[in-house]
Amino acid sequence: MTTESGAFCAPEPAPRPPKATEGPYARCVLCLEPTEYAESVKGIVLCPVCEWQEAQRNACSG
Ligand SMILES: [Zn+2]
Repeated sequence: MTTESGAFCAPEPAPRPPKATEGPYARCVLCLEPTEYAESVKGIVLCPVCEWQEAQRNACSG
């Protein structure tokens, strides 16, 4: 049996805004690096690095 998609405990990925193809890009709320999302995106935006770290933290929590 192969478990390619079984590495994470979270059953569903968190909803994310669509990625922007052009700038200006929103800044990551954690490290202030430019993200892949448009500046007009509302709410919390994370850069790929912080996004990955948050996913790691949220997965398997509890
Ligand atoms: Zn970041």
